[in-house]
Order: sequence, then C-alpha cells, then structure tokens
Amino acid sequence: MLFDNTKIGFDLKSDFELKRALFLFKVISNSTITKIGTSLLKLYSSIWFLFFKQYDIFSAIFLEQIYRQFCAGLDHKTSMKTVNKLFSKNVYSYLHYSVEGGKNDASFDIHCQSVINSIEFASTKKNLPFTVFKPTAIGRITEYEKSDVNQSIYNRFDRICKIAFEKNIKILIDAEESWVQDSIDNLVEMMMKKYNKENTIVFNTVQMYRHDRLDYLKTLLESAKKNNFKIGVKLVRGAYIEKENKRAKSLKYESPICVSKQATDANFDKGVDYILSNLNVFSLFCGTHNEESLYKIIDSIKYKRLEKKSNKIWLAQLYGMSDHITFNLANENFNVIKYLPWGPIHQVLPYLIRRAEENTSVKGQTSRELSLIRNEISRRKKVKKTGLHLKKKKARKSGPHL
Ligand SMILES: Cc1cc2nc3c(=O)[nH]c(=O)nc-3n(C[C@H](O)[C@H](O)[C@H](O)COP(=O)(O)OP(=O)(O)OC[C@H]3O[C@@H](n4cnc5c(N)ncnc54)[C@H](O)[C@@H]3O)c2cc1C
Repeated sequence: MLFDNTKIGFDLKSDFELKRALFLFKVISNSTITKIGTSLLKLYSSIWFLFFKQYDIFSAIFLEQIYRQFCAGLDHKTSMKTVNKLFSKNVYSYLHYSVEGGKNDASFDIHCQSVINSIEFASTKKNLPFTVFKPTAIGRITEYEKSDVNQSIYNRFDRICKIAFEKNIKILIDAEESWVQDSIDNLVEMMMKKYNKENTIVFNTVQMYRHDRLDYLKTLLESAKKNNFKIGVKLVRGAYIEKENKRAKSLKYESPICVSKQATDANFDKGVDYILSNLNVFSLFCGTHNEESLYKIIDSIKYKRLEKKSNKIWLAQLYGMSDHITFNLANENFNVIKYLPWGPIHQVLPYLIRRAEENTSVKGQTSRELSLIRNEISRRKKVKKTGLHLKKKKARKSGPHL
C-alpha cells in the first residue's frame, strides 16, 4: 500500500529525529501521561516568565525537542530552512504565526498586520502558495456570535483578502466553533464574491463532523453559480467535538455533530466527492490524516480523470505528523502541503498543548504513526547491517593487500 513505504515517508528524518518522534508519540499515546504533562505545561506556560528571562534548562532540553517536532522555526527566516527542506521532496508549505495574542482591538490589528506580512513574505517565495488566519485572532468571539459582525472585523477581513488577491496568494480562513461559524461563513462568502471572480483566492473551512455541512456546500454552490464566483474550500473533519457536544448538552439543543465517527467519515467522503464532482466552481484543500479518505480521493481523482497536479486539488497535513502520507503522496506527484506553525518557543505552547491533546483523542492515528516509525527504525538497522556485511565480504574477497 502507498502509505506503508517508510523509506520515502521518513527520508528527511535523521536517526535521532526518528527516535525523538518515537519517544514523543509514545508519550502522547498514553492519555494519563498526556493529561498530567499538558496540565504541567499549561501551568509552566503561565509562570515561566516570572522566573526566567529568556531561556531555562527545561526549555532547552525538553521543550525544544517537542517544538522541533511540530514547529517550523522562531521566525520567517529560520522557518524557511524547514520550508526548503520539505520542498526538496516536492512538498509545499503554509506558515502560521501560532502565537495567541490579546483580546482587544489593538492586538487584533497587530495580528491582522502579521497576516498581511505573511502574505507579502509568501509572495516572494515559490513554495508558499497559501497563507492562513483564524477569525478569532482578528476579532472578539462575542462579535462573531452575533449575526452581523462589526465594521472593524469586516475591514480586517477585507484588508487581508485584498492583499492576498493583489499578491496572488491563496488565503485559508480557519473554521471555529459552530456558534461563531455562521457569521464567519457570511463574511467569507462576501470575500469570495469580491475576490474569487477569476481565480480562487479565498478559502472557507468546512468541518464535516457537522451534519449540516453537505447542505451548506450545496447552498454555496448555488450562490456561486448565481453570483458568478469561485469557491475555495478547506475540508476538514473538525477539531472542537468535545466543546460542541458539551455546549449542546448544557444548553439543551441538538448537537451539530454527527452521531458517530463513522457518520463523520461518511459525511467527509461525501463532501470530498461533491466538491470533486463540481471542480468547475470548487477548489479543494483537503486537511486530513485519514488514510482511508485519502485512498478514496486518489481513486476518485483517477476515476474522474482529474489532473493530480492541478491548482484545484491540495492535500494537507500538519507538520510533524503523518509524514508517511505527505511524502508518499508527494512522491506520486500530488499537490501536497504541510501546515507549519512558527513563533517563539514559549508563545506557541498553547498550540503544542492542543496538538498533544488532539493526538491522544485520535488513538488509531497515533498508534499507526508509532508502528510506522518502529518499522523504519528496524528497516534502517537491517540496511546498515547488510551494508556492513557486504563491506566485510568485499574486504575478505579482495584479500590482504601486501
Ligand atoms: C491542514 C489541516 C488544517 C486544519 N484546519 C482546521 C480548522 O481550520 N478547523 C478545525 O476545526 N479543524 C482543523 N483541522 C483539524 C481537523 O479538523 C481534525 O481535527 C484532524 O485533522 C483529525 O481528523 P482527520 O481527518 O485527520 O482524521 P481522523 O483521525 O480519522 O478523524 C478524527 C476526527 O473525527 C471526528 N470524530 C472523532 N470521533 C467522533 C465521534 N465520536 N463522532 C463524530 N465525529 C468524530 C473529529 O472531527 C475528529 O477530529 C485541520 C487539520 C489539518 C490537517
């Protein structure tokens, strides 16, 4: 099977990096250790600056190893080393400044400017075709809960999408909780109407763990046909399942989440199929680590005779995860892209904590990752042993050189 080729999957990883990944995924796969570890990290992230000015032993030894597994670098310049390394294997990247800012207008403006800087930076590189932002990083969550957001949020969306349009960099807008998503959907549709006339620049994120999202895709297609614009969709399963179900239960409304994992999987695959069947209007950016869904996409691309390397289909994974998927797809010449968070080590801690928590809840994925890393470590051992054996044999054959 395509994704079982660990030589291609882990080719960029040194032996040390492989062992580090093995250790980290082992830790993450233990839910008790992860729970204790993430609680300690949360405590540490809120107090470290009281004790340490820049760097402490804990960060240097332990945090840095987690950071290197899941983050690209401290700034644009250092992150580019990672980006270029990935591109040497035909893998594109998109960078995200994963620092969570304050919750006032000044900090929203600063974040908006940092997204604009990222777009400008990306436009000078050939391997950064996308940029991303999270709506609640540029506006108050309470504003998004209303049906109409305020003018400042609209202006920030518009500033970002306009510059993305001018620089021809595609912009992904992350999906958040369902109770803020309606106003985000409305805003993104307005941006698509404005900036997706000729090319697909603006991408909304659609979470298929929501049972209403296939209907949403259908409504969006009708609107696009009527108003003559293109649709960009980042299709994901969705990251806020526990929050969603908990809120629905406590406020006594029907949960927007599919009743089971199987139902989410079926909904996700239907979403992919719907988009791939309407590629004259849609572009697909598929964010998933699910091998079955990806095999279906590969089959579908073949069956529908779609162009693998067209600008309309992108397959994405998070940096530090599912390399066996990313690099094997890239080796088969699909458009593959990694999400690369960057930023100062202590400031990206909340992102790292979320990664650990999410990985623990996705048990199958982590154990698959672990077994593949183990396979690659033993494959390398065997290769080294055979190499050594052949060398000795050759030396024996050629005899003593007197
Ligand atoms: C490039 C990229 C970008 C992303 N951007 C976003 C984003 O903007 N917003 C966002 O919300 N998420 C985002 N995610 C995360 C994504 O939504 C998933 O949480 C994550 O990728 C795991 O799902 P999976 O498709 O990889 O596969 P899997 O591991 O097969 O699926 C796990 C997912 O299935 C769903 N699920 C699990 N159990 C159940 C259950 N009992 N009932 C119903 N559904 C269940 C959940 O959505 C869970 O996350 C992104 C992921 C990637 C790779």
